Amino acid sequence: MASVLKSEELESYRQVLQNLKARLRGDLNQMTDEALRRHQPDSSGNLSNVPLHMADVGTENYDQEFTLGLIENEQGTLDQVYEALGRIDSGTFGRCEECGEAIAKPRLQALPYTAHCIQCARELESRG
Ligand SMILES: [Zn+2]
Repeated sequence: MASVLKSEELESYRQVLQNLKARLRGDLNQMTDEALRRHQPDSSGNLSNVPLHMADVGTENYDQEFTLGLIENEQGTLDQVYEALGRIDSGTFGRCEECGEAIAKPRLQALPYTAHCIQCARELESRG
């Protein structure tokens, strides 16, 4: 199936996706590090991170859950970025995976990793 985009356009989306991938991986590494570090108090003898009473422990757990939620979100986006890069290689990038129509360019520019046109995205969302 021929691509709906010109090769220069594909290359610029590839660049955008690669930047996004690098950024998401950096964020994920940092957040994973932070979540792990919180879990294990600093062993170097620095006690400033150790919670002193129960209220602090609750906040720590809340923060950790919040961070884990963010990690899950970003991991999901990163997976979509990988898939989009795969679609650039296979020539299906820019085409809706559901109906096969070209995805509108403003949508691709806003969400370069999307696999669906706006109509199908809305439908999938309402279906849950
Ligand atoms: Zn569609």
